Amino acid sequence: MQSISAIFPELIHPKKVVITMHQKPDGDAMGSTLALYHVLIALGHDAVIISPTNWTSFLNWMPGVKSVLDYEKNTDTANELIKNAAWIFCLDFNTINRTKKMEPVLLAAEGQRILIDHHREPQTEAFAYGVSDTSKSSTAEMVYDFIIDAGHEDKITSDVAECIYTGVMTDSGSFRFPSTTANVHRLVAFLKDKGLQHSKVHEAIYDNFSENRLRFIGNVLLNRMQLFYEYNTALISIPAEDLLKYDIKTGDTEGLVNYPLSIEGIRMAAIIIDRGEERKCSFRSKGDVDVNTFARTYFNGGGHFNAAGGQTMASLDEAVSHFVTAMKENKENLATYQF
Ligand code: 5GP
Ligand code: MN
Repeated sequence: MQSISAIFPELIHPKKVVITMHQKPDGDAMGSTLALYHVLIALGHDAVIISPTNWTSFLNWMPGVKSVLDYEKNTDTANELIKNAAWIFCLDFNTINRTKKMEPVLLAAEGQRILIDHHREPQTEAFAYGVSDTSKSSTAEMVYDFIIDAGHEDKITSDVAECIYTGVMTDSGSFRFPSTTANVHRLVAFLKDKGLQHSKVHEAIYDNFSENRLRFIGNVLLNRMQLFYEYNTALISIPAEDLLKYDIKTGDTEGLVNYPLSIEGIRMAAIIIDRGEERKCSFRSKGDVDVNTFARTYFNGGGHFNAAGGQTMASLDEAVSHFVTAMKENKENLATYQF
């Protein structure tokens, strides 16, 4: 993988471009791809965003989101676009299999794949150009750096500012995770100067849920959360019937895994959700508990040091006992509580 700066001179020559992200895009995946999309369109490129799957409805206010193609709903059109693209930007994922059904099509494409990402252990051999930096708060911050470094600061409109802010805000836990550097705060100041209304973005993302979701969270915290104080660990497990009962949609469970971390002493929190086709897991930690390795070792996943995910085909009960066994194997690391 060559440095992404090698493509800077080519940015002023319009091309057919596909931009994609990980399946079930979150605020950072959608925000970073849309920000790049607006800038590439402004530079004259024939650009399109293809999402591997559908996405949560709380992102539907975002500028440009209506033009995003859902691969599962527009497979033939999307395949044709990927086949004909000169550039394929891959944002907010480290390995191509995170695009699920798009993986073989992306790998077979003749266009150059370009990575912009902040996850650990990127599949660098799969990309012609790219930048991977695990110290970055978000891929949206990296897209911002990309635009500035390439000399296209003037293309950051208030729409682009909203997209970048969405990605940085959601991936940094509203600017509280350790990845929130001075550069992140400078970026926000820059976006404010471009006319960003940050409260509008925060409300659009965090104050747009259904009553059902709040009652679902009540039930989860009351009935679906187990605490293992001797391991400083909490586990939430959600059966499929809860999702049905409360009419839970894509994205409604996002952030739930963080709740147990607000309990004094808890250093690792996990959630396992029975999604029917698979059991999807999320892991979060504080301090020196490495959930990237944990997700990789036990749940076929990965991510960041303090935030990772994975999945398993085992039943929910089996997944829970697998988790408990894994937690016990890591007792030494989990049980010694340090600030
Ligand atoms: P989340 O728990 O919010 O789904 O994901 C947390 C972090 O782990 C994100 O950066 C996400 O991209 C990554 N992640 C989530 N699920 C998986 C997975 O199944 N495999 C890998 N490699 N990373 C994942
Ligand atoms: Mn991200």
